Amino acid sequence: MSVLDVAIIGAGISGINTAYRVQEAQPDINYRIFESRGEIGGTWSFFKYPGLRSDSDLFSFGFEWNPWFADEVIADAPAIMQYLHKSIKSFNGDKHLELKHKLISLDWSSFEQLWTLRFHVGDGEKYEDREVKSRWVVLGTGYYDYKKALPVEIPGIDNFKGTIIHPQFWPEDIDLTGKRVAIVGSGATAITILPNIAEKAKSVTLVQRSPSYIGAIPRQDKSVDLLKRWLPLSWATKLLRVKYLLLSFLFFNFCQQLPNFSRKLLLSGAKKSLPPSIPVDPHFSPKYKPWDQRFCMCPDGDFYAALRSDKANIVTGHIETITEDTIVIKDQPESKIEADVIVTATGLKILVGGGATMHRDGIEYKPADKMLWKGCMLQDTPNAIVVIGYTNASWTLGADVAAKTLTRMISMLKKNGRTSATPTLPAGVQAQPFMQMSSTYLLKGRGQMPTGGNQYPWLPRRNYFSDLFDAKYGDVSKDIVSSKCIHMVEANETVVSWRKEVGSTLHLLSLSCTLCIMCSILDSFTSGTIFILQMYPINTLHMLATLIIRITRHIGIPEPSRTSQQSPAEYQVQVAHPPPCLVGGSPSCSTDSCQS
Ligand SMILES: Cc1cc2nc3c(=O)[nH]c(=O)nc-3n(C[C@H](O)[C@H](O)[C@H](O)COP(=O)(O)OP(=O)(O)OC[C@H]3O[C@@H](n4cnc5c(N)ncnc54)[C@H](O)[C@@H]3O)c2cc1C
Repeated sequence: MSVLDVAIIGAGISGINTAYRVQEAQPDINYRIFESRGEIGGTWSFFKYPGLRSDSDLFSFGFEWNPWFADEVIADAPAIMQYLHKSIKSFNGDKHLELKHKLISLDWSSFEQLWTLRFHVGDGEKYEDREVKSRWVVLGTGYYDYKKALPVEIPGIDNFKGTIIHPQFWPEDIDLTGKRVAIVGSGATAITILPNIAEKAKSVTLVQRSPSYIGAIPRQDKSVDLLKRWLPLSWATKLLRVKYLLLSFLFFNFCQQLPNFSRKLLLSGAKKSLPPSIPVDPHFSPKYKPWDQRFCMCPDGDFYAALRSDKANIVTGHIETITEDTIVIKDQPESKIEADVIVTATGLKILVGGGATMHRDGIEYKPADKMLWKGCMLQDTPNAIVVIGYTNASWTLGADVAAKTLTRMISMLKKNGRTSATPTLPAGVQAQPFMQMSSTYLLKGRGQMPTGGNQYPWLPRRNYFSDLFDAKYGDVSKDIVSSKCIHMVEANETVVSWRKEVGSTLHLLSLSCTLCIMCSILDSFTSGTIFILQMYPINTLHMLATLIIRITRHIGIPEPSRTSQQSPAEYQVQVAHPPPCLVGGSPSCSTDSCQS
């Protein structure tokens, strides 16, 4: 079985970007991208609800190495998918794709210094097993469960006789013409769906327990046209990227530093966009500070435009119950919302690592129980990157910081002649949430996410500029134990040299046998036949030895397995510090800690 340098899991934005970065850093690197679905794009090919689009600007959401080239600042899913297809083809990343490969488990062997990845290959129920070995693994599997949505907790939802749709599993053939639709939720998904179904539906009502901040962002930016007209395209796209990186950075910090002032500005903006029938309070005045939860953007203010039409409405309050065709709001007898369809835009179920199980030397653990080193490497986990982007800026920026950290770690190990790097938590580091936003689904999913720490380099990521600087120039050895388990290498080398020695001896032997046989044949013509028979045992020995060599080549060197008397911890120590290797005098395993 050939061994990969890097196995990338997931062909979404994070997977594609990582593939580009590893190939850029080391053009001859041996990597594959394993994707469970039959297509690339992740989120952007998976979700099918009407109007799916980015709410980040595409100049910072696009890849640095293939800048977003279209004129629109905000793009819909088909345009993003077209861009992703072009991007992956631009560096032949598509030649490294393994579609319909669902990662099931990951096992690190300290003895081999390798990951063993197990996949189900195929469609749904029908699959075959496949095993792959890799030096590094990158989990670009996104942050939510593709199979299961967050369970809906709406009182009386089971009474409803109409159609219930979760945006994650939007039925593409559903026709909402003339239907009364209620959307339960207040996040980006609800804000996107409402204006996009308002035209067809008879009525659309957004039912929210608590409001969000909703800003309007122009789809087109006049400076795009201007810059493209006067500057070479590559300069124009670079300048636009810098402009939008700075804008989103300044906007976030302005909101966090001056929460009252920014709140006032945002609410007055909302007031201007709303029809007189819909007051800002309670519908657009959240209890939290701007950017404590993800800020919702609507292109050209399409959400407000829908509210100004007579088709869309908004209701803020707790759902008391749902009858077979009506949503009843607590303490608001006037707010009874009749509906044929309910859309439950209540959030995603957080999942890190795509649901694959993780083991280190036979001991299972969960990514959620670990801290993240520099926002991307799991504590106590050698050679593994978990890609989690930003929630307060474009996701891609965080994914790129992770990819750059990976390429630095790979070259650091290469330079130092090491085979693995393991983030190891020093005493006294306190855990804190990695995603610091207070959105309900993130709060509910905190138990499923690795945490950050309260000290460098365990701090959660918050700011692209400083994180990028750190990924490029920061200390990549702090709290890292790098190992070179030469036991395996030397044992292998010993076997190889043994094979070589035995092989060449046997070669000589067989040559001499052949010569002898020839001599004896000649001899038999002269003095007799006894000599030929004497050579048979040597030839048999030759065949036997060849057979042994062949078998050892197939089996390889077995890893020590845990005995029933050993505790998991003892076993781990044994594997981390294996017994002396076959080459006399050399330490079997060298780690930074055991060398010092
Ligand atoms: C509706 C929606 C809108 C969003 N809008 C924005 C936005 O405007 N701006 C922004 O910055 N972010 C946004 N996000 C966040 C978004 O998830 C990221 O922008 C980005 O697309 C994530 O890319 P990714 O590659 O990390 O993950 P994903 O896009 O989730 O891709 C992960 C890939 O991994 C695969 N995978 C998962 N598990 C396995 C497994 N076990 N084996 C093999 N393959 C596996 C999946 O099939 C998928 O293809 C949005 C998210 C959602 C859900």
